[in-house]
Amino acid sequence: MASQDAVEEARALVEEAKSVVAFTGAGVSTASGIPDFRGEGGLWERFDPSDFRYERFLEDPAGFWELRAVLTRSLGLEDARPNACHQALAQACKEGVVEAVVTQNIDGLHQEAGVSGEDVVEVHGSTRRTRCMGCGERWPIEEALEAVDAGRVPPSCGGCGGVLKPDVVLFGERLPKDVFDRAQALARGSDVMLVAGSSLSVYPAAGLPEITLSQGGDVVIVNGEATGLDARASVVLRGRVETVVPELLG
Ligand code: NAD
Repeated sequence: MASQDAVEEARALVEEAKSVVAFTGAGVSTASGIPDFRGEGGLWERFDPSDFRYERFLEDPAGFWELRAVLTRSLGLEDARPNACHQALAQACKEGVVEAVVTQNIDGLHQEAGVSGEDVVEVHGSTRRTRCMGCGERWPIEEALEAVDAGRVPPSCGGCGGVLKPDVVLFGERLPKDVFDRAQALARGSDVMLVAGSSLSVYPAAGLPEITLSQGGDVVIVNGEATGLDARASVVLRGRVETVVPELLG
């Protein structure tokens, strides 16, 4: 458990900082009922990651979508509600304590907690949308899931008829440049990066806190288990994000 002294130390860093940027991962949403990838009960115990590679999508979009629909539903997004960690971050954004939330999550729960769309940088996209490979138009995921249920695979764009892709970054796919440029600029400009609920193992996103460190900023890590960056962090708070983050920002 995070000691009170360590929480106070982290709080002091946040209070003194000119710019605090939060960087969140799947661990922020487990208390909302969305499984992470690598933890116990994680999605990769049930699915094979290689089925969700970008190349696989390009080679066989119909087969890809049949499995992707099952994975998307396994996330349980319809019932998931923001938890105390999302809420504390949203409140801190409203108060200007946190400048932006850069998230690896694809679940949209930061926005649902009240962080404005502009202040959430979704480096891996959102599973609540699809994007047309032809015209780039975005559509709600529900329409694609209904199409898959009806055997219309791969789902197609209501505008141009092109193939739809989940609007998430698949393994082997590049991160959207404009979004990642913004995330990197925030990491460079922040004097404290607050990392919450990430194993910091999925690159290039996991490299963002290293950018803050390289600029002389501090990194505070709140996570249930050790990460590869703990040794370089100013404060490491071991515990559940939905308890520790509200304590730190409250
Ligand atoms: P990860 O699964 O690699 O790591 C999650 C970390 O959070 C683990 O270290 C785990 O021990 C910790 N954790 C889990 N619950 C916690 C809690 N309540 N309190 C504190 N720590 C907790 O996730 P990642 O680092 O985000 O990287 C994996 C990729 O998974 C991301 O790119 C993301 O796109 C994707 N993903 C997203 C979601 C989502 O949107 N909610 C869910 C699963 C996977």
